Amino acid sequence: GTIADTLGRGIDSVTGAVSETFFEPVVRLGVTGLSRAGKTVFITSLVANLLDRGRMPGLEAAQSGRIQAAFLQPQPDDTVPRFDFETHLAALTGPNPHWPDSTRHVSELRLSLRVQPSGLLSGLSGPRTVHLDIVDYPGEWLLDLSLLDQRYEDWAAQALDQARGRPGGAEYLSHLADLDPSARLDEPQAQALARAYTAYLAAARAAGFSDCTPGRFLLPGELEGSPALTFAPLPQSASPRGSLAREFARRYEAYKAQVVKPFFRDHFARIDRQIVLIDALGAIHSGPPAVEDLRRTMAGILRAFRPGRNSFLSTLVGRRTDKILFAATKADHLHHSQHPKLTAIMEALVRDARNRADFAGAATRAMAIAALRATVEETRSHDGGRLDLVRGTLLDGGKQAAFHPGDLPEDPNALLVPARQGQAAWLDGDFDVMRFAPATLTLKPGEGPPHIRLDSAAEFLLGDRLR
Ligand code: GDP
Repeated sequence: GTIADTLGRGIDSVTGAVSETFFEPVVRLGVTGLSRAGKTVFITSLVANLLDRGRMPGLEAAQSGRIQAAFLQPQPDDTVPRFDFETHLAALTGPNPHWPDSTRHVSELRLSLRVQPSGLLSGLSGPRTVHLDIVDYPGEWLLDLSLLDQRYEDWAAQALDQARGRPGGAEYLSHLADLDPSARLDEPQAQALARAYTAYLAAARAAGFSDCTPGRFLLPGELEGSPALTFAPLPQSASPRGSLAREFARRYEAYKAQVVKPFFRDHFARIDRQIVLIDALGAIHSGPPAVEDLRRTMAGILRAFRPGRNSFLSTLVGRRTDKILFAATKADHLHHSQHPKLTAIMEALVRDARNRADFAGAATRAMAIAALRATVEETRSHDGGRLDLVRGTLLDGGKQAAFHPGDLPEDPNALLVPARQGQAAWLDGDFDVMRFAPATLTLKPGEGPPHIRLDSAAEFLLGDRLR
């Protein structure tokens, strides 16, 4: 309820005692995105930059100096793992910078900000504390929402259909060739099928496909090996009680009831602001089928935020999440001259997703960001023209290298046309090898902050709550 939302649970900084502090607003910021999209790096950089505040010119409350203090506090949810900020920050900023371990499950971190109000009240009232509860969760789990509307038979038919066209699919389908779904359940066989299906999902993900359900098969958390994760799609059959197909249908329902629903109830339903991180460059590099799949996936994500459609969700959510930011990550892989194109592509994808999902709820926005710049820019003359490059330290071998990974199209719709013979690829082979190590923070004055538009993202997501 709204009243409960405004009651913050404060920790007295002098005595350390837990006390209920009234009228301390709480903002729950959801951070999601598929595995490797950049959630861990984003949260670590956002928190570090909010603690520091010198590098966030686009966040008005920071730029104006109205954020007087920022400090980490114990989070309100005692049973949710804490986001391991200190370890991740040490990985990124230590003497030998490396990327932190990625998100594998839901976690949470509370950052409290002491803010001087702006506007009319600014002279009249003293600073107040705003609690920012950051909730990190895998995007794979969000996509499981679509399962709630589907019976096992429908999901299986769709999953098998997808497997026919995707990398790794043939391998899984070959397991079904001489399998009788109506035969008695045999547990080792069930496990082998679930393993084979999981391997296919992982291959499809690696090839750039986003919509790979059930999401827990890829990121099982503590459920690995449990019966709720030991099923797979089987062809339609008349299946008697005790059969493989009947048991898989039962486990699928158990997965929905005992895994998917609790996640939406306990975590998702309480989010006020959401950022969805998307490795759009990766999908573009993978080619038109991956981009088309990303479009469908973004619509699926927006459906989760559309109250009323899903009867289970509407009892939980109401109209809570009022701002959603879709951010293309790793924009530092491109020279800034191409950032407007990447933003235009994200805007087109979001527009399309809103239409497909028939979405009219929260305010949405698209951006291209880099939570942590791993590159610097340079321009060289090349064949009588100019070539814009990004330079960074390669993850493998530690050598410096400069790249021009190709040109994004002016028209975002061009990305959906399957590349024909002779047509230039949007992002060429070089993009594959552009795996940079995080740069040591040695930027000189004038080189800008060590991120790209992290502050604009924070302004969109939080700015109004820090007024
Ligand atoms: P998660 O699975 O969503 O938590 O993803 P991570 O935050 O662990 O990021 C996955 C990988 O993406 C990292 O290990 C980096 O290689 C890369 N990455 C993430 N953010 C950035 C960024 O801002 N710039 C660059 N160049 N690479 C990034």
